[in-house]
Amino acid sequence: MQASVDQIKQHVNELIASNQLAHAYAFTGEAFDQKVAVTTYLVQGLACPHFDEEGQPCQACSFCERISKQQYTDLFVLEPDGQTTRVDQIRQLKDWLSKSPVESDFKVAVISRAETMNPSAANALLKFLEEPLDNIYIILYTNAIDLLLPTIQSRVQVWHFAKAENEERLNRLLEANIRPRHAHIIVQLATDALDRWIEGYQEESFDQWIKGLNYFYQMLIERQPQAFIVVQTHLKSFLSNQQAQDGLDYLMLLNHHLLKKQTTAHADEARTAYAWLDDLIQSKQPSTQSVLELNQALLTAKQQVMANVSGQLAYEGIAVSQCDWK
Ligand SMILES: [Zn+2]
Repeated sequence: MQASVDQIKQHVNELIASNQLAHAYAFTGEAFDQKVAVTTYLVQGLACPHFDEEGQPCQACSFCERISKQQYTDLFVLEPDGQTTRVDQIRQLKDWLSKSPVESDFKVAVISRAETMNPSAANALLKFLEEPLDNIYIILYTNAIDLLLPTIQSRVQVWHFAKAENEERLNRLLEANIRPRHAHIIVQLATDALDRWIEGYQEESFDQWIKGLNYFYQMLIERQPQAFIVVQTHLKSFLSNQQAQDGLDYLMLLNHHLLKKQTTAHADEARTAYAWLDDLIQSKQPSTQSVLELNQALLTAKQQVMANVSGQLAYEGIAVSQCDWK
C-alpha cells in the first residue's frame, strides 16, 4: 500500500501543526518529481505565514513562491560530485547548517542520491544525525536505501515514492515481444525512455549479457580473482560505453537486492526473480561492510566509464579492488 502525494501532503500538514516533524527523513523510490513536490510543500508549510484552516501553505505569498522556484535561501540541495558524495561536501553542508537561518527560523537540507555517499561522508553525516539540532531538517533522496549505512537507516523516517507508471512501461516492453524475464530487468534499469532498449533488443544476446554479469557478480561476492578473467571471457563483447554503464547499473541492482535479502527477515515475494542470490548469501555470507564496499567500487567504475575510461578497464578495476589476490 502506498500513500498518494495528496495524502502525504495532508500528513505533512498534521506533522507541522503538531510540531512532530522528524529531523531526518529518507525519501525512497523512483518517483523523483514526487519527492521534490513533497519537499517543496514541507518547506512551504514551515515558512508560509498564511496557513489556511487546514494548515496548508497559501501557495501565493513570496515565501511560497520562491520556495517552489527553488530560490529559498534556507533550503539547500546537495548533489553528488559525479558518482560520489564526498566527505568535504558533507562538511560544507554541516557548516551551512550550523549558521543561523536567513529568512526564517529553520533550515532544510536535501541530500540527493544519498546512496552515493562514500563511507567517510556517511560517517560524517551520521555524527550529525546522532545529535540533531533544533529546527534543522535533513531529507535524503535515494532509490536504494539498503545501500545506506544501517546506522543511518535507523535514524531516518522512511517515506516511499514509487513510480506508478512502471506497470505501463512493463506492458510496453512485453508488447514489443521482449521476454518477460528480460522486461522485468529492463524496467528497473531504464531510467529514461524505453525506445533504446526496445530497438537494441536481441533475446539471445541479452541473455548472454545478463548471464555474464551474474557470473561476474558471483565471483565478486566470492572475492575470486577469476572475476578478472570473466571480464575478458564472458563480458568482453558487452563493454561498449553505453552497455558498460547499463551493466554497472545491473550489478548495483543485484547488490541492492542482495543487501535487501540479507537485512530483511522475510523474503520479499516480489524479488523471487533473484532467488539465486539467496544461495549466494547462504554459501558465502558476505558481510554488510563488504557489500557496501562493492557498491562503492561499482559507483567508482561507473564514474570512470562516464568519463570515457574503457569499459574493460573499469570492470577489471572492480575485480582488482574486490578480490583476494594471494
Ligand atoms: Zn505562503
